[in-house]
Amino acid sequence: MSPRLIDPFGRTVEYLRLSVTDRCDLRCFYCLPGDYRDFSEPEEWLKFDEIERVIRAFASLGVQRLRVTGGEPLVRKNLSSLVTQLSDIPGIEDLSLSTNAVSLSRQAAALKTAGISRINVSLDSLRADRFKDITKGNLDKVINGLMTAKQAGFDPIKINMVIMKGVNDDEVEDMIEFCIEHDFTLRFIETMPVGDTGRDASSYYLSLQDVKSRLAERYELIPGVMPGGGPARYVQVAGTQLRIGFITPISQHFCETCNRVRLAVDGTLYLCLGQEHKFEFRPLLRAGISDSELQDAARTAITLKPERHEFREKPQQVVRFMAKTGG
Ligand code: SAM
Repeated sequence: MSPRLIDPFGRTVEYLRLSVTDRCDLRCFYCLPGDYRDFSEPEEWLKFDEIERVIRAFASLGVQRLRVTGGEPLVRKNLSSLVTQLSDIPGIEDLSLSTNAVSLSRQAAALKTAGISRINVSLDSLRADRFKDITKGNLDKVINGLMTAKQAGFDPIKINMVIMKGVNDDEVEDMIEFCIEHDFTLRFIETMPVGDTGRDASSYYLSLQDVKSRLAERYELIPGVMPGGGPARYVQVAGTQLRIGFITPISQHFCETCNRVRLAVDGTLYLCLGQEHKFEFRPLLRAGISDSELQDAARTAITLKPERHEFREKPQQVVRFMAKTGG
């Protein structure tokens, strides 16, 4: 039997995004409703040992890259202990973290020691008032977290900026200068119709093809690559070290090279960000499944992976919020 996970469309799955909580200490208007309360309950969360077992099974079948995400992963208690457990798993070669950085200044050093090597930080605005309007949060905490992470030695640090027309698209150049100054990598993301919030934000949708054309008038952009296995298409800004990635799920989808799946905190494996195909691991874990049965379950789950999302054709389709899936 193949030691690798190959889906019905011939794609090898070697990347797993692990959501360690669906809770978040921000309320980005395009992600979670301000009054949202329908979070999963602690008894539904996979325990650290359960998470470790599932990840071991996937790693034994060729998953090499693991990204810890959420919700906001830093709100899960004792996250660095979990990271230590995960970093010991044979086969996991790349262990990274996506965070909003609100409490990163307190946790950066411990997470680095535990085994996180690369981090992505969401940052949609460098203006405190605008940042608050978008996220309900405090920009100073995020900047503080970013600078602490840099001191702790994370490399690279990538900034993820969701670009929204009339909301923050006038800050693209400021963000570029900020990332040049601090030696961060920058990625722009298109808004996706995920959950009602994401759908409402579609009115701010801006094609990144337009943003790229605009930038090409001001900067010399050299086609480039960036290690990390993600969907971003990169350019380098000539005369600088800055790389800019464009993540374009709407204007130019990249499903044909999709190599990833997402494990939610309640043990649901989502096979696609833009579809409802899923496989439940928690009932199996709590019924005492063996390690080899867990591998079989992982193989079965991968057979459910759909060919592509249908954000354009069926924008009403995904009812769950991004924070639930693990963005
Ligand atoms: N809290 C962590 C963070 O901020 O990176 C991880 C989870 S968050 C859901 C992951 C990413 O999803 C963030 O960069 C966020 O901006 C993005 N996101 C959430 N909803 C989105 C949407 N509707 N369209 C595009 N990106 C979205």
